Amino acid sequence: METIFDTYQRYPFHFEKGEGSWLYDDKGEKYLDFTSGLAVTNLGHRHPVIVEKVKNQLDQLWHTSNLFSTSPQQELAQKLTEQSSMDRVFFCNSGAEANEAAIKIARKYGQHTTRSHRYEIITFEQSFHGRTIATLAATGQDKVKTGFRPLPQGFRYCPYNDIVALDEAINEHTCAIMLEMIQGEGGVNVAESSFIQHIKKRCEEHQILLIIDEIQTGIGRTGTLFAYEHWNLQPDIITTAKGLANGLPIGAMLATEKLAESFSPGSHGSTFGGNPIACTAANAVLDVIEQQQLITQAAIQGDKLLAKLTSALQHHDFVKTIRGKGLLIGIECKGKVHDVIQSMHDQKLLVIPAGPNVIRLLPNLLVTDKQIDTAVQTIQEALNIQNV
Ligand SMILES: *Cc1c(COP(=O)(O)O)cnc(C)c1O
Repeated sequence: METIFDTYQRYPFHFEKGEGSWLYDDKGEKYLDFTSGLAVTNLGHRHPVIVEKVKNQLDQLWHTSNLFSTSPQQELAQKLTEQSSMDRVFFCNSGAEANEAAIKIARKYGQHTTRSHRYEIITFEQSFHGRTIATLAATGQDKVKTGFRPLPQGFRYCPYNDIVALDEAINEHTCAIMLEMIQGEGGVNVAESSFIQHIKKRCEEHQILLIIDEIQTGIGRTGTLFAYEHWNLQPDIITTAKGLANGLPIGAMLATEKLAESFSPGSHGSTFGGNPIACTAANAVLDVIEQQQLITQAAIQGDKLLAKLTSALQHHDFVKTIRGKGLLIGIECKGKVHDVIQSMHDQKLLVIPAGPNVIRLLPNLLVTDKQIDTAVQTIQEALNIQNV
């Protein structure tokens, strides 16, 4: 009898061990992992430095609650603020929680700091911001909302990369604009520069907060620590989670100093948030990224992967476009990708879709040239047997 809710359509694998770019199943078969557990194990499975640091922390301290401060949490806040344009950190345990914190702080700021009653947040079609009731409301995809209405009010949705629609949506109640620089779940859609510059201008003119959801794009994934760095942007709030602790649950909402007063004692909280074990893993992740220059590495390997995919597939009948940044790449096809993904899995390459027509590639930041070649060859072969 099934004992776990059927909330995921699971693939028929049962993995027992991971190492670097590889996953091993219960039959001893080895798979090349180009999913990284949904942009989470950005440094590969069981990275030795992280394993060692976490083992040591397990022998030191597990949990205190946020009524007390701990060194791993303080150290992580220090690192995150030093390495971004942000000044303050709120720790939680997942992406959705980080976005919840962003929504709450934006509303608080909007109501206390500006003259008018500002509470509305503009988000975008095809966005994904989480599965809690509020982040579901923020998400611009109808399919995830079905059956859960009524949802919280105060969100307005615009088509992505549409300047005119954005201008129409802004009004005296707008407190924030929230977006992903590259929509991960929504199809690996990259924000256009002109669109971002326009958002930047409108936010300044109307004192609107800019929230960037970096939950999938952050922690080196796109060839910068956070994706917004590609666009010459200064957000007010960013959210991060997935890759931050390489597989241990953590989330963080970062904001600039002007928002500091909006989160005061009692305004928000999380029992597990900033847990010493998860923070230790995150500190190790950021140390390894810096010491091994993995951001540059991700940019270089991402360029190679994109170039190789483009030369192998650009004239393929079934392929429409190949796009992305760094190691977040989408291959948009002219039809459903379910079957091609199936045949890649049969050939022991793990990839996932982003919407019905896009194959999404998320290798870890340490992916080798040889692994890139293997993946490109498998993808090409799988597409060749696909009937258009
Ligand atoms: C995965 C994701 C979330 C939700 O994160 P969870 O940890 O699953 O709650 C939010 N926003 C983006 C962009 C994501 O990719």
